[in-house]
Amino acid sequence: MEDRAYSVSLTKNPLISMKVIPGHFTTNHFHISHYLDVSELKTNAVIAKDVARELSIPYLANVSVDTIVCMEGTEVIGAYLAEELMQEGVGVINTGKEIRVLKPVISANGKLLFQCNVQQYIRDKEIVLLVASISSGTTIGRALDCITYYGGVIAGISALFNAYPAGDEQVIHSMFTREDIPGYQVYSMGECTMCREGQKLEAIINSEGYTNI
Ligand SMILES: [Zn+2]
Repeated sequence: MEDRAYSVSLTKNPLISMKVIPGHFTTNHFHISHYLDVSELKTNAVIAKDVARELSIPYLANVSVDTIVCMEGTEVIGAYLAEELMQEGVGVINTGKEIRVLKPVISANGKLLFQCNVQQYIRDKEIVLLVASISSGTTIGRALDCITYYGGVIAGISALFNAYPAGDEQVIHSMFTREDIPGYQVYSMGECTMCREGQKLEAIINSEGYTNI
């Protein structure tokens, strides 16, 4: 599987690059034609800082932010994003603020929640939701529901990769989109073309990585 891997880089900063593996994969909710490995972007501190600088652009001048909520292991990027947004500078709206970086807790029954001591950083606060990869929109939907439930105001959504079709709702800022990955497809369970063609599933994937079947 790894021998089919190729890299997709950001034109303006080739250091920001994700590994793409074509194949037949499943998550808990859908089947998918490509596995995207963004772990280097999330865990390499030098690269994560560059990613954060890139993601800060849409917010820097005119979006007030109190809290960054991180999903799918994006906390390192989230911390650097906070630093970028709080930097000193003319035209930087969040200069001098104290931005919080949080991630929700996953309860035993799979629900996302914020514990009592941090709910104050969500209620009536302006929140940027940061996710790694948006394919079917399931994760982001759960995260938005959770933030709204605790009274947070969504100031923006940022992703490393977004394949979700643009809707009328919230704009999603992302570095990579499905246009960067020719042939990228997400299928609901039971509607997968690869399954119909008898192609074997290769791995179970989630935001942490993949497990071969
Ligand atoms: Zn399938």
